[in-house]
Amino acid sequence: MGPEKAATLFLGEYPDAESYRVRLYGSLCLTGKGHGTDRVMRQVFGDRPLKIEFVEHPGFPLAHPNTMDLIAYRESRQAGFWRVRSVGGGEIEIDGRPALATEERYPQQSFSEIVSYCKKHRMTLPQFARQFDRPELYRHLEQVWMVMKRAVAEGIRAEGILPGGLSVRRKAAMLYNGTIENERAATYESRILSAYAFAVSEQNASGGIITTAPTCGACGVLPAVLLQAQESGGYRDEEILDALAAAGIVGNVIKSNASISGAECGCQAEIGTACCMATTALAQLRHYSFRQIEYAAENAMEHYIGLTCDPVCGLVQIPCIERNSVAAQRAVHAAMLAGVVSNTQKVSFDCIVNNMYETGRDLLSAYRETSVGGLAKLYGKAGRVSGAAGR
Ligand code: SF4
Repeated sequence: MGPEKAATLFLGEYPDAESYRVRLYGSLCLTGKGHGTDRVMRQVFGDRPLKIEFVEHPGFPLAHPNTMDLIAYRESRQAGFWRVRSVGGGEIEIDGRPALATEERYPQQSFSEIVSYCKKHRMTLPQFARQFDRPELYRHLEQVWMVMKRAVAEGIRAEGILPGGLSVRRKAAMLYNGTIENERAATYESRILSAYAFAVSEQNASGGIITTAPTCGACGVLPAVLLQAQESGGYRDEEILDALAAAGIVGNVIKSNASISGAECGCQAEIGTACCMATTALAQLRHYSFRQIEYAAENAMEHYIGLTCDPVCGLVQIPCIERNSVAAQRAVHAAMLAGVVSNTQKVSFDCIVNNMYETGRDLLSAYRETSVGGLAKLYGKAGRVSGAAGR
């Protein structure tokens, strides 16, 4: 989504060049094909002359692992040049230009500052979002919620094999329709929660329309938790929108103070953030106190510290899709813990966000969305279950 946004803006500035060139570096080079970056570039540039280069050894230090160049040519000379960083969730930064990604930040940067402000002014997190976010925030959230529900509805009906060549079977319908002998209510709820997370993630993996929450790879967690909460708890859509607003604040704290990019900080930044956002949404629905909300969000991230990003073949399928299901379950678990033991909390949410960022920066690049380490490396060798793929 970041490269698509960059290319669209670039074309708006250089609409009539004779030819164009896109250079993909770092993680965009190594997972660009699996993530569909080259396909999206061709869609954006249409029938204009375009050359796409995957540059594995750029010969200069990258300011961000997701870096790309966009170049326009006129009369065989360079007429326009942008160096762009795709920083996660579809946000981009362009060298030499004001950072687009910071436009939506709240004045209070840390969670503790936000909570202090809310307490002082006797407001909830959704009220805080209404005060400081764009006036059209809730109209946007209505659309987000509609897209989330539609992605679940479409995903649980779809069957077959996901595109990309890994022969990964869609599993949402299997989970949704599957039966477990003597299934108890708790197991039923857990199965449906997983079905919803699989549904949205499989829609993402097959090019369907989803909402980044916070990213495409981690898009299944928040909709699964919210939809299941609505179905089992009877929450009104207005309450769901408030929960989305609260989740957005927590996601924004992580994005502003650390990262939501798997290429920058590993999967902890993507799936860990999604888990934080989902448990915050649940805590908001239950009208938890600030202490309980903070405990839930901190707990959700704490146990993802160090989680690597190693998607097989650069496709957002293995391990990504199952991770969404697991994170949805963990979000529910974190909210449950927060409901009972939050008064024992020792570690602040801001501390764990810093911890995630430092850990992410320490991760070898092989574990930050480059598909050269971990499962991505081992799956094709001894890691595959013999004969299971495509069954
Ligand atoms: S493994 Fe990587 S690509 Fe997959 S969800 Fe996690 S961060 Fe995203």
